[in-house]
Amino acid sequence: SKPIIALVGRPNVGKSTLFNRLTRSRDAIVADYPGLTRDRQYGTGRLGKSPYIVVDTGGLSGETEGVDPLMAGQVRAALDEADAVLFLVDGRQGILPADEVIANYVRLFDKPVQVLVNKAEGYDHDVAKAEFFQLGLGDPIAISSAHGDNVEKAIDHVLEQL
Ligand code: GDP
Ligand code: MG
Repeated sequence: SKPIIALVGRPNVGKSTLFNRLTRSRDAIVADYPGLTRDRQYGTGRLGKSPYIVVDTGGLSGETEGVDPLMAGQVRAALDEADAVLFLVDGRQGILPADEVIANYVRLFDKPVQVLVNKAEGYDHDVAKAEFFQLGLGDPIAISSAHGDNVEKAIDHVLEQL
């Protein structure tokens, strides 16, 4: 069956914008996918070389409440069912403490993770992604979900490794 790709990251990094671009839809819900709840939004991947399902998550703040609330919620469920994780960060804001909380949480799942440094349009991509190596989740890829820069390349890179 199609691999499931989960989008995680703190609010406003651009997860839903990326979801819409990958699915080419505002609400491409996959109604007949068994066992999936409506806490998360599912769509059919339409950008990239091979088929996949993409899952958008909300509500992951990574703030002072720490990891326990994450484990009880939709993000845990999305990470549990994911074959790969796209971890979005904001290239304009840099690493915030919440990003580190989320990085540490995602690491617990031992799934392939690709860090995507979003909002990189108009920036030198090497500069935009440089500090995000510190998250310890491998080589980041700079993208712009809003403009589409590098998005297809990034999803193909992830799909090729599954
Ligand atoms: P989410 O909370 O992670 O789902 O983030 P959203 O997709 O709702 O986006 C949050 C804000 O960031 C919105 O105002 C988007 O228009 C903006 N945004 C998303 N992607 C980009 C991008 O690639 N570049 C810029 N400049 N803004 C973006
Ligand atoms: Mg959203």
